Amino acid sequence: MKDLPTYNLGDCRVTLLSGGRLKLDGGAMFGLIPKPLWNRACPADDQNRIQLHCNCLLVEWPDSDRRLIIETGHGPKYAEKEQKIFAIDPTRWLRPCLIQHDIDPASITDVVLSHLHFDHAGGLTWKSDGALVPTFPNATVHAQQQEYEDAHANFGVMTATYRRENIEPIDAADRWRLLNGDEQIVPNVRSLVTPGHTRGHHCIVVEGSDRTLVFTGDLMPTRHHLGAAYNMAYDLFPLENRESKRRLLTWLAETDGLLAIDHEVETPIVSVRQDGDWFQLDPVSGGA
Ligand SMILES: [Zn+2]
Repeated sequence: MKDLPTYNLGDCRVTLLSGGRLKLDGGAMFGLIPKPLWNRACPADDQNRIQLHCNCLLVEWPDSDRRLIIETGHGPKYAEKEQKIFAIDPTRWLRPCLIQHDIDPASITDVVLSHLHFDHAGGLTWKSDGALVPTFPNATVHAQQQEYEDAHANFGVMTATYRRENIEPIDAADRWRLLNGDEQIVPNVRSLVTPGHTRGHHCIVVEGSDRTLVFTGDLMPTRHHLGAAYNMAYDLFPLENRESKRRLLTWLAETDGLLAIDHEVETPIVSVRQDGDWFQLDPVSGGA
C-alpha cells in the first residue's frame, strides 16, 4: 500500500482507495446552479459531462484482523453503451485497486455503504467465471434498512440507479446487516443519518482516539458543492440535504475533524474551517 495516502487517526488508520472514475452531466450534478458558475470550477466536456472520482476508504486497526471498506465505487458491470455514457473503464474499479496493492478482497471483514446507487454499490459484486458473486465473500455489508427497502422498491428520481445485480447476490449470500438510524457499526465506526440525497442516506464516521474522519457519501459529492444551494438534481429532498450538510460541516469545524469527499477529483480529504457564514476546506495530504 506504499503509494496510497494514509491517515492515522490514533487507534485506527484510514487509507484512500480508488473505486473508479465516471462522468456525469454537469447540469444534473449542480441542480439549480447556473452553468457559468459551476463550469469555471468543473469544466464540462463536449457532452456537458464533468469528471468525477469514486473515492473509497480502507479502515484498519493495529493488532486486529478486522478490515473495513467504506463504499465500493461503480464496479465493472456495464454494457458498452453504458461505458460510453458514463465514461467508465470497467477494468478500473475497487477490486483491481486492492489487488494491485496486495490487499486480498477475501480479507475484508466489513463493507459500509452510504447509500445503494450504482456508483456506490457497483463494486459490491462482479462476474467471476460467469457467475455474479460478492466481491468480498467474507464481509458483512452494512447499509440503512430504509435505503435497502428503497433500493428494492426502486424509490427515486433516477430510473436505473438501483441495480438488482448489485444487491441480489448479497441477498443470496445473506451478508447484509441493516441499520436503523445512527448506530455503532464496529468499534470506532458509526453511521450518522444525513437524509436528503436519498431517504436512507448516512455518512460514515470513523472516530479514532486522536482524530475523527467523516465520509460524506453524496451529502456533498465534491468540494465544489460546499455552498448551501449547491444540491444535485439527483437529490430527492434538496432542502433536507442542505440542512444535513450544514449540520455536518458545523460539527466538523468545531471538532477539527476530517472530511473524505466521495466524488472529489483533486482534494478528497480536507479539514473544515468556519469562516463567518461560510466554510473553508483545507486539503490534507496523507502519509504513506
Ligand atoms: Zn447517489
